[in-house]
Amino acid sequence: MKIAILSRNPKLYSTVRLVEAAKARGHEVRVLDVLRCYMNITSHNPSIHYRGEDLTGFDAVIPRIGASVTFYGTAVLRQFEMMNVFPLNESVAISRSRDKLRSIQLLARKGIGLPVTGFANNPDDIADLIAQVGGAPLVIKLLQGTQGIGVVLAETYNAAESVIQAFMGLKANIMVQEFIKEADGSDIRCLVVGDKVVAAMKRQGPKGEFRSNLHRGGSASEVRLTPEERATAVSAAKVMGLNVCGVDILRASRGPVVMEVNSSPGLKGIEDTSGKDIADLMIQFIEKRFDAVEIKDKSLTRTRTRGKG
Ligand code: ADP
Repeated sequence: MKIAILSRNPKLYSTVRLVEAAKARGHEVRVLDVLRCYMNITSHNPSIHYRGEDLTGFDAVIPRIGASVTFYGTAVLRQFEMMNVFPLNESVAISRSRDKLRSIQLLARKGIGLPVTGFANNPDDIADLIAQVGGAPLVIKLLQGTQGIGVVLAETYNAAESVIQAFMGLKANIMVQEFIKEADGSDIRCLVVGDKVVAAMKRQGPKGEFRSNLHRGGSASEVRLTPEERATAVSAAKVMGLNVCGVDILRASRGPVVMEVNSSPGLKGIEDTSGKDIADLMIQFIEKRFDAVEIKDKSLTRTRTRGKG
């Protein structure tokens, strides 16, 4: 197969690993900087150009689109889809998962465990908003934040009120969330490929820090999941429509609650802690899906030919 990897940096660990895994399985692979792709959006003949070259002949595309380039990146990916190139994750699923509020609404609709979450626009409604999530301590999140930046723990009602007022004053979109104290500064990253959790790790923030992000100094270790946690992660991936993703779960006393579903999960931490070749599993998934589509196409052609005869 000929596989494109949409990544801004060919030296990133995850990109390097995907290239290695694709080559090891006998595929031709090319890393493309998504911001250097440009498109001709014409009926019947969509095309993508790259530094003056017409990109053709790709069978599959692996999107590794950073949060800051979601808009342009998903447009490029959509163009690949219009050219019948199989995407490891579809553009529509990536856009869906990048909207934190929309994701939570979709997960809630399917009855997946979530922290109690509130959202409001008007400062006059702050008191009720705080009451809805059970009062302080509570967590305030900027919808645009990543890597733990823009996630605040307000320990008292007054702190919560003033932080919410400040964010609203800046016209920032925020959500207010029940603080899952019993998670004790840790969360669980479940790596889902297809309909399975293929690896999981527990991330623990440094002492005194409630955020477990590795970028904020957290550390990772292997963890055994309960069947309920596994089922929750797989369902969350399915609701978002993502074939490959990282589902972040908090261990609440009432059971697992999903915090976020990440459509471009980093491979370093999870491969290091699990010792598993996740990049290889991702390429295998593409092969299986691709074969299935090929078989379906062939049988369609057969049916059509038979119909004609
Ligand atoms: P980001 O997308 O910026 O990483 P998250 O929503 O994942 O933001 O939050 C960052 C970290 O903060 C999480 O990994 C988790 O450890 C902690 N955290 C987030 N929400 C809660 C919550 N409601 N209760 C307890 N801890 C939380």
